[in-house]
Amino acid sequence: MSETPSNLQIHADRLWAAILETAQFGATPKGGVRRLTLSVEDKAVRDWFRAACEAAGCTVAVDALGNMFALRPGRDPSKAPIGLGSHLDTQPTGGKFDGILGTLAALEVLRTLNDAGIETDAPLCVANWTNEEGSRFAPAMMGSAAYVGDFTVDDIRARKDAEGVSVAQALDAIGYAGSAPVGSQPFGAFVELHIEQGPILEAEGKTIGVVEHGQGIVWYDGRITGFESHAGSTPMPLRRDALATFSEIVLTVERLARELGPDAVGTVGEVAIANPSRNVIPGEVAFTCEFRSPHGETLKALEEGFAAAVQEVAGRRKGVEIAIETVWRKDPTHFDPKIIAAVREAATTLGYSNRPMVSGAGHDAFNLATKMPVAMIFVPCKDGLSHNELEDATPADCAAGANVLLHTVLALAGVAKPA
Ligand SMILES: [Zn+2]
Repeated sequence: MSETPSNLQIHADRLWAAILETAQFGATPKGGVRRLTLSVEDKAVRDWFRAACEAAGCTVAVDALGNMFALRPGRDPSKAPIGLGSHLDTQPTGGKFDGILGTLAALEVLRTLNDAGIETDAPLCVANWTNEEGSRFAPAMMGSAAYVGDFTVDDIRARKDAEGVSVAQALDAIGYAGSAPVGSQPFGAFVELHIEQGPILEAEGKTIGVVEHGQGIVWYDGRITGFESHAGSTPMPLRRDALATFSEIVLTVERLARELGPDAVGTVGEVAIANPSRNVIPGEVAFTCEFRSPHGETLKALEEGFAAAVQEVAGRRKGVEIAIETVWRKDPTHFDPKIIAAVREAATTLGYSNRPMVSGAGHDAFNLATKMPVAMIFVPCKDGLSHNELEDATPADCAAGANVLLHTVLALAGVAKPA
């Protein structure tokens, strides 16, 4: 066989059964899942996943941070494996799909290939990344972040949860401090299937999101210092009103994001007036502000526009100081054009409606994209809801996503030709 069998489909009922079966590990009364990373529930799902991968003929390696890699050999062992997968941990009140769909769909891809007797040219490697959610230990996506070298293994192993238990202790407690060095598993490319966690696909009646970018982000802390004085006896021209100044900043943020849209958002999410009183002119205001855009130039234009506007307001309002500090900045993630094209091609060939998308949420794939060609596949989730026990997706959409994953991976790995 020299062509990818274009009519090959995953076993939708088997995928759905795996989703329901693993949802028992940490099941909540409201139908969700509570499976914090490196907990006993996480151990249970990891043991299940390891056994399932081994039964599918894989060798399962675990690295020193508990990242799991199930390898299915290919015809050409000199080729780097094509990676697929996501995460199995959840939020404290999480659902059955966030992360889990991508990991179990990857397993289903292997099972489907086994059933069809298909050998790929490059090996395949299914990954389960440790602590994507970040609710028990910070940072989120720590397994993939350490994999690409953003943090040292020692740093991550020393991180503690609210009870003072370190990552190292938690890994030992469940037996998932593996022997493979972090970062040692090679990948030729990586594809992650995930629920959208937003409302766009459902609203437009589309089945597949072809994710092209992840948002860039900049976070600011701001402080405006004016002067407190009597609300009745201070004439308007003599006021140094921190809150009135702040209101100009808020409207600036909204105006900039609208002007530079549609791929730009700006939010002032927190504000505190120091010593507020109805008859005192506010003297000090602290606030947060953020901008996001999937385009580097747009993010830069937002930052420059913001700095210029702040300077203009400060120059006009005599006696009021505006201090802005950048506390976090991340460039937009751009997925690989070749992998994006493979996802779009697979979705289109399979007859699924699809559209290009930006991911508003963070994913392990973003970390991996700094080191290898990566793309993501989104499927709709009910009401755009995620990080909630009511998180839901239809069996048909889950199967569609898994089929797109299957054909993307086949295109990237190549189907082995008989010797
Ligand atoms: Zn996730």
